[in-house]
Amino acid sequence: MRRILIWFIAASLVNFVFSYFFYTPKMYFIDRKNREMVMKYEILQARIAAATRKIEEIKHRDQMVYRPLFGQDTLSIAGVYTPYSDSKYAHLTADRVYSPLTVAAWQNVDALGRMIYLESVSMDELQTLSLDKERLAVSVPAVWPIDRTKWNGNISFFGMRSHPILGYARMHNGFDLSAPRGTEVYATANGTVEESQSRGGYGRQILIDHDFGYKTRYAHLSESFVKPGQEVVRGEIIGLVGSTGLSQSPHLHYEVIYRGVHRNPLNYFSLDTKADELDTLLESAHEVILEIDE
Ligand SMILES: [Zn+2]
Repeated sequence: MRRILIWFIAASLVNFVFSYFFYTPKMYFIDRKNREMVMKYEILQARIAAATRKIEEIKHRDQMVYRPLFGQDTLSIAGVYTPYSDSKYAHLTADRVYSPLTVAAWQNVDALGRMIYLESVSMDELQTLSLDKERLAVSVPAVWPIDRTKWNGNISFFGMRSHPILGYARMHNGFDLSAPRGTEVYATANGTVEESQSRGGYGRQILIDHDFGYKTRYAHLSESFVKPGQEVVRGEIIGLVGSTGLSQSPHLHYEVIYRGVHRNPLNYFSLDTKADELDTLLESAHEVILEIDE
C-alpha cells in the first residue's frame, strides 16, 4: 500500500516537472488552437477595417453629394460616434493574454454597426425626399420675402452684432430688410401657418411650418392676413411690413429655421437671385441697426 502511494507521488512529481518544461501532446494541440484563433482574429480585424473604409466612403458621398442634392445638412445622431462603455466588454476581459485582441475586434464591429445604422437612417431619409421631390421643391424657403424693388437698401445681416449703445455682442437670428410700411410680405415656400400673433420684441409676427424641417418667421408686421392652421403657398401675401415690437423703423425681420436651428436666410434665395447678383446687391447695401435689443 505504502509503495503504491510512493509510486503515485513520484509519478505525479515527474508529470508535473515534465509538463512544466515540456509540452504534452494535448498542450501542443491547445497552443496550436490558440495561435490559430489569434490569426483568425487578425484576419477578422483586417476585414472589419476594410468594411469600415467602405462605409466611410459611402458616408462621404452621402454627405458631400446626396444630402446636399436634397438640401439636407449632414445627419447627426446623438452618440453615434461615442464608443460603448467598457462594461459592455467586461465578459471578454477575463483572459489577460487574448482580451486586448478580442475586445478591440468587438469594439470595431460595434463602431461599424453604428456607422451602418447612421447611413441606413440617412438613406431612408433621402429615399423619402426623392419620392417627395416635388413637395420638397416648394417647401424650401428659396425666395425673397418682399418685392426686392421695395427694399430701400438698408439691411441688417444674420449673425453676431454688437449692441448700438451697450456694445455687447448679441446674436441676430434673422435678416432685416428695410422697406416702407405697408409693403407686402410673401410666404417664401408652401406650408402651414403655425403662429400669427404678437410675440415679445418681434411685435406682430407670423411663423410658417414648411415640412422637411423648415420654418420661416416674419416679424414687426403692421398687418397679418393669415390664421394658425391655414395653408399658404409660395408667393402668397401673408402680411404687411410695419414697425411693431422692438423695431426702430419699418422693416421686415425674416428668419429661416431648419431643424430648430436658425440659418442665414441669404443662403436660401437661390430661386430668384443668382449668387453673383446677390453679391452685387449686398455690396450696395447699407448695414444699419433696425431693431432695439432688449
Ligand atoms: Zn432682425
